[in-house]
Amino acid sequence: MKVSDIDSGRQRGALALNILDTLVHRIGKDEQAALPHDWLAATILTVRNEIIERWMVSSKAAHAAGAKRVYYLSLEFLIGRLLRDTLANLQASAEVKAALAELDVDLTALEEIEPDAALGNGGLGRLAACFMESLATLDLPAYGYGIRYVNGMFRQRIDDGWQVELPETWLQYGNPWEFRRRESAYVIGFGGEVHGDENGAVTWKPAEIVEAMAVDTPVVGWRARRVNTLRLWTARSLDPFRLDAFNRGDFQGAMADQLRAETLVRVLYPNDSTAAGQELRLRQEYFFSSASIQDIVRRHVQYFGDIRTLPDRAAIQLNDTHPAVSVAELMRLLIDQYGLDFDEAWELTQKTFGYTNHTLLPEALESWPLPLFERLLPRHMQLVYAINAKLLRAARKVEGIDDRSIAAISLIDEGGERRVRMANLAFAGAHSVNGVAALHTGLMKTTVFADLHRLYPERINNKTNGITPRRWLQECNPGLTALITEAIGDRFMDDAEALTALAPFAGDAAFRERFAAVKHANKVALSNYLRGEMGLRLDPAALFDVQIKRIHEYKRQLLNIIETVALYDQIRSHPERDWTPRVKLFAGKAASSYHQAKLIIKLAGDVARRVNADPSIGGLLKVAFVPNYNVSLAERMVPAADLSEQISTAGMEASGTGNMKFALNGALTIGTLDGANVEIRDHVGADNIVIFGLTADEVAAQRAGGYDPRAVIENSAELAQAVNAIASGVFSPDDPNRYRDLMNGLYDHDWFMVAADFDAYSAAQRAVDARWNDRDGWQRSAILNVANMGWFSSDRTIGDYAREIWGVK
Ligand SMILES: *Cc1c(COP(=O)(O)O)cnc(C)c1O
Repeated sequence: MKVSDIDSGRQRGALALNILDTLVHRIGKDEQAALPHDWLAATILTVRNEIIERWMVSSKAAHAAGAKRVYYLSLEFLIGRLLRDTLANLQASAEVKAALAELDVDLTALEEIEPDAALGNGGLGRLAACFMESLATLDLPAYGYGIRYVNGMFRQRIDDGWQVELPETWLQYGNPWEFRRRESAYVIGFGGEVHGDENGAVTWKPAEIVEAMAVDTPVVGWRARRVNTLRLWTARSLDPFRLDAFNRGDFQGAMADQLRAETLVRVLYPNDSTAAGQELRLRQEYFFSSASIQDIVRRHVQYFGDIRTLPDRAAIQLNDTHPAVSVAELMRLLIDQYGLDFDEAWELTQKTFGYTNHTLLPEALESWPLPLFERLLPRHMQLVYAINAKLLRAARKVEGIDDRSIAAISLIDEGGERRVRMANLAFAGAHSVNGVAALHTGLMKTTVFADLHRLYPERINNKTNGITPRRWLQECNPGLTALITEAIGDRFMDDAEALTALAPFAGDAAFRERFAAVKHANKVALSNYLRGEMGLRLDPAALFDVQIKRIHEYKRQLLNIIETVALYDQIRSHPERDWTPRVKLFAGKAASSYHQAKLIIKLAGDVARRVNADPSIGGLLKVAFVPNYNVSLAERMVPAADLSEQISTAGMEASGTGNMKFALNGALTIGTLDGANVEIRDHVGADNIVIFGLTADEVAAQRAGGYDPRAVIENSAELAQAVNAIASGVFSPDDPNRYRDLMNGLYDHDWFMVAADFDAYSAAQRAVDARWNDRDGWQRSAILNVANMGWFSSDRTIGDYAREIWGVK
């Protein structure tokens, strides 16, 4: 049967016929039988065909030129949906939309049923996804390496206000984007023994082996300049089905190896900033590091012949310490397989790796119990000891180094149970160690890495994070994109910093009105969506105040909720005042084991229920917790926000990237001087951002100087009233003690300085109200935010990495 035979006789162009042909011959359905997911798969497969040739051209050209390649190793890639992004970057959206319309299929509807690939927890994973897109956009030959989790980040359901975690079944309908590369497979070993022979050659005989197999997804850059590869590893047993065991009647034993392999790639640890600590997590880290390093070394030797030129042709970036065991793995291959001596191997290793640090939180700095590390990776343990010996010998030679310093530099933490420190291993094994915002990089030098920094003062550098303006402006906010294009042309699409040409329009009253109308339309769209999803009724004229991010005490959703309670109180007490109508929106996931964070979600819901049902406040305040925050939800909420909440305890948020998305879409930020907020203020201007609260230095000084939260709370009537109301069960009449311990924690220690910053925050919020009532002033600031956020494009960030760390053009 030819497609033309089943054509209903309507006018259909080549692309429509192509999609139909794919539907019939690849999916095996005709037009009448096809379900939405069949159309989605047929569309993706058709688009993919378009990409493949460019993909091959990209890799052949890089090969021919002998280009240096960038390898981005990350345990997380928070990709989200790909169809809209890919079509936009191919400049094919309109064409595909029209072709599908000829088949009576709506492209937008297809885009919205695409599963959201949530192979990451939060900002770190989303950064990796933005970087992949920018690497392709800047035409840099690059591979992303990670794990193809069968269930990525959990799906969050809210039951009676409580978070419930469900498996994310994103592969339910298959994944038409990916290519399984059965031939690109590597053996990964665990455990076993190490033998040395009389010549000093070492062999590692693992007790257990599993095979890593590559699954590739093409990543299309803006205007399809280049297509790069995201290579995710899946695991299989070398002996997936043991017939002998099966024939003995041991049916489970027959499949045990395969089950163990599948377990390795089953879930992403739902832990944002605390090390999971489980053996399985270390196995995952080694599995993907080893497969990636073997693949990189194999490619290098195949193309260039000589392993010694590796650093000239390969730059490997470690996204946090999750892939840090790669340092030992490359050393193992260089020494045990290629016969290099230790010193030469170490020099090549250091020249090849760069390491990006993402957090200063002590509990988030990965370390593994020595016995576990040694049992699982005995050869790597030897190499870690050898690296440590070299490192500490060098340290001893430095003037004024004392024992405390030596202990801090060591790869082995000797305090208490001995542990391998992955951050120190990554630092030692890399020629570049970067932070992700100026403030964070400065703090790295004075806190966690102070001693290593003294030893290697050139190594730490800053690369302030960025976001891709394709996904986070052009695709998620077509209304604003059209308005900007009309005003200043489309050059900003190729160079986000060209957005500065928008600045003069802040003074144009007619433009301001149109800008406000775009924001209003986005708020109407979000309101309609939330009404459909959760029955919420919002007034799009109200100020939309949004805090969406992982739920964590340092991010201080609690500060926002307590201020909401205080505002509720104030509105009830002073109904005669001219209150600004507000909608407070929260969303975010809590790590499954993080009790306090889950309680904070419940509190947001309890406050919402009470406030939203109170007729006495006349609808001036509405509160909602929106379930299942992910990239797709962010794409809906960011364009509709008026106010962006970036209120972490100063010194604790390494950078933030949510802050950048909002400002780029014309929200004003209320925030502390933390992470990239500092640089956002520098770019948008102090008049166009609302900064409050303690600085990082002041937080440190207060903590050192005996901060007394009880006194602070008792001195602030508004705060005391709100805290006591929550503690006494006003918002939880069904369980009056639910929040007693949470509130007592504020009185007793308040590590995150909620009380210390409350009055400043509350005053800043009332200043926001006043600004909102100055409609012209608000729009002017919002436009100046958009105009000055181009610097935060991940194209700029990647350009900086390319020049200053990787040495690629
Ligand atoms: C951008 C983004 C983040 C990071 O947000 P922060 O506010 O910087 O913590 C987390 N999750 C998703 C889905 C995102 O899109």
